[in-house]
Amino acid sequence: MSSASYPANTVDQALHLLQTVFGYPAFRSQQGQIVEHVVHGGDALVLMPTGGGKSLCYQIPALIRHGVGIVVSPLIALMQDQVDALAEVGVRAAFLNSTQSFDEILGVEKKMREGELDLVYIAPERLLTQRCLELLEVVDIALFAIDEAHCVSQWGHDFRPEYIRLSILHERFPQVPRIALTATADQQTRDEIIHRLRLENALQFVSSFDRPNIRYQIVEKGNGRKQLLDFIQAQHAGDAGIVYCLSRKKVEETAEFLNENGITSLPYHAGMDMTERSRNQARFLREDGIIMCATIAFGMGIDKPDVRFVAHLDLPKSVEGYYQETGRAGRDGASANAWMAYGLQDVVQQRRMIDESEANDTYKRVQGVKLDAMLSLCETLNCRRVHILDYFGQASDPCGNCDTCLSPPTSFDGTIAAQKILSTIYRVDQRFAAGHIVDILRGIDTERVQQWRHEQLSTYGIGSDKSEAEWRAILRQLIALGLIAVDYENYSSLKLTEASRAVLRGETKVQLRQYKKAEKAVKHKRQSAKDYAEAELGAEEQALFDKLRWWRVETARTHNVPAYVIFPDATLREIARNAPQTLTALRAISGVGDKKLDSYGAEILQLIAELHAT
Ligand code: ADP
Ligand code: ZN
Repeated sequence: MSSASYPANTVDQALHLLQTVFGYPAFRSQQGQIVEHVVHGGDALVLMPTGGGKSLCYQIPALIRHGVGIVVSPLIALMQDQVDALAEVGVRAAFLNSTQSFDEILGVEKKMREGELDLVYIAPERLLTQRCLELLEVVDIALFAIDEAHCVSQWGHDFRPEYIRLSILHERFPQVPRIALTATADQQTRDEIIHRLRLENALQFVSSFDRPNIRYQIVEKGNGRKQLLDFIQAQHAGDAGIVYCLSRKKVEETAEFLNENGITSLPYHAGMDMTERSRNQARFLREDGIIMCATIAFGMGIDKPDVRFVAHLDLPKSVEGYYQETGRAGRDGASANAWMAYGLQDVVQQRRMIDESEANDTYKRVQGVKLDAMLSLCETLNCRRVHILDYFGQASDPCGNCDTCLSPPTSFDGTIAAQKILSTIYRVDQRFAAGHIVDILRGIDTERVQQWRHEQLSTYGIGSDKSEAEWRAILRQLIALGLIAVDYENYSSLKLTEASRAVLRGETKVQLRQYKKAEKAVKHKRQSAKDYAEAELGAEEQALFDKLRWWRVETARTHNVPAYVIFPDATLREIARNAPQTLTALRAISGVGDKKLDSYGAEILQLIAELHAT
């Protein structure tokens, strides 16, 4: 896409708005090209990782083009914050959704008709009403932005039926440019978005999906909760983070466990009532250092920039899901951790959920393929990031910032171990679950062993050289590799598969990942993003930074907005480092635009002066 085909003043105008309104010196990655394209009336499909900076891609064109920009978003709970954040930089924004009174709606509609708004966020179900479509006929529309566009995909994890009907925008307003945005990159979803939203003529902008500041780490699960606690205490004391669990019950138990151990944690899942959920979400967004324990119901559109870690206590269903969830860490670009504990039970549980689901066979097959890809990420001997990016069709080199790069796992020829397990399964007529099989191999004298006289099996005790955890790790890999099947209808008993016969006959070799005893999380100076960032500040700078953070808490409270809406950490840190003495010097800092300079400039200079005086 060459910018030469457009009048230069569009580029200048866009850059000018970026600098004066948003206070950022330059566009990131493809933002500039996307803005130009949309300003000139083109349709666009934007694929950018979470935290990549999608919002500016429609906000700036909406400011440049005549009329109001309509943003379709399913995230009703976040609309208030989005509108507040825009108000802070002086952009006239509002929203229309089901949480408003009729009077409020009338008020917004009136402003739209009178051309007094730059951006309006609308929930899809509201947009599709007759009333709203008629309103749109009579107002001047700058563009349609369709946020979280993957919601149109039926195979995706966030399917919203209303999204399918959004093709109406193209039919009724063919002259208005449309920009669809998502962080979900796989080809299938992409194709579905294009097809369903009628974006065949849209230009596609696919950014790199790498999030270099996130460190990926997948550990062998022992006592998951305890490992989580160690991880948080060692690396994330005082940080905000998200812990994902599979079930509502586990969410609540984990939150309670963390609270008992002195870590402020809140639960979030779809089984809680709406008020409590929104309250917890608001606290997580507004207060510093809260840990949210949640099911995947939590997170879409959460744009809190300073989430320092995302932890998974259970295996996600797909790499897409995993990447989207972990992508909520470190949006501000500072280092962050994606940590997961993974074990045999995860594989068994996820396979069972697919098996027992009532969906049709095609759907089950798709889910099975997705799970296999996730398992292969967990078991890989290579760089996690290379593996993930490759899944999204992007080639890369080993990153140096994931667990397998930092302490490479070793592999071993597991053929004999596999044969020991497989023949034990065979000898017990494929009627027993993992625990008993491991007991037999290790020669443990249990009641069940005695009851079935399994001490007489030729494989009894032939695996006493390995610990229980080691055998479970091997079993897990064999299940992940499809060499063992689990029969959920019969007490999760283990069965041989077609593929396992070749291993038993010695025709196929099995290469396995060497079991690593869960290391106690140690406090690496560089590993904690907070340490890293704070280490860079001198004592005096740190004092100013702390002071600025206090000021921000107070200001955010008076304005009733999340702290990061006032200024993100990165901006405060830069102010602390430069200690500007004049408004001009303050204005030069990334994240300080005209309106914020106007609102807060004097107060900040005052804070700096006070500190220097003491
Ligand atoms: P996404 O919607 O893609 O997840 P956002 O639009 O919320 O990402 O942007 C993530 C963060 O990056 C925000 O804090 C935003 O202000 C910041 N940001 C976006 N573009 C730029 C830029 N060009 N320069 C500096 N910061 C930016
Ligand atoms: Zn790596």
